[in-house]
Amino acid sequence: MTAEQQANDIMLASAILYDKGVLDAFGHVSCRNAADPNSFLMSYSKAPDRIRAEDVLVHNLEGDILTKTDKRPFLERFIHSEIYKLRPDVNAIIHSHAPSVVPFTVVEGSLRPVCHMCGFLQGSGQPYEIRNSVGDASDMLIRNAQLGKDLAEHLSDLSVVLMRGHGFTVATDTLAKAVFMAVYTEVGARIQLSAIQLGEPNYLTPQEAKNSNDTNIGQMDRAWQLWVEEINVKRNF
Ligand SMILES: [Zn+2]
Repeated sequence: MTAEQQANDIMLASAILYDKGVLDAFGHVSCRNAADPNSFLMSYSKAPDRIRAEDVLVHNLEGDILTKTDKRPFLERFIHSEIYKLRPDVNAIIHSHAPSVVPFTVVEGSLRPVCHMCGFLQGSGQPYEIRNSVGDASDMLIRNAQLGKDLAEHLSDLSVVLMRGHGFTVATDTLAKAVFMAVYTEVGARIQLSAIQLGEPNYLTPQEAKNSNDTNIGQMDRAWQLWVEEINVKRNF
């Protein structure tokens, strides 16, 4: 895949996630650079829905923009650089502040797989606690490489990490899968919040979560193709 195709997919993913309420004026999408795995592709600091392919610039794994530009990088680019550094299996990352997910970041262990589309959430219930890195000296943002490294280590080998009082980050091997997981983290949070109103939910067991996730992995491209078609019609990309 060329850098141009990857940049186009980042534009599409950003618009899809904005359209679905996973991103708003904030949040970001990146891909590992297929031409050089020691770099990644990400827009400069810009509202996701306004990103176009030409806004996507090459960053190194220190978080510096390599393309010559006067544009400012995203403050939280270190989420991306440090996860790519630690996880060679990860090729796509999405960071979101979706308001339906944030309640689960402030009550430890509360986010659980509540339906078959959310099996990948198994194990992601414990939020990253930024106070363990810097006490209460932070502004909650992952604004340097050390915080990015601490977050990446908390993510471990999972696909989703919650961030206390902030949001969540998805990291996986393809952009289509990352978009699917970001959408269904938000959907799962909404379903769980609804179910809790009715009583104690009957959650998926770890085995059910694994089985349903294994099945869904084979279906994710269908969602990506549908959402790309929809956004192309809506935005006339
Ligand atoms: Zn953030």
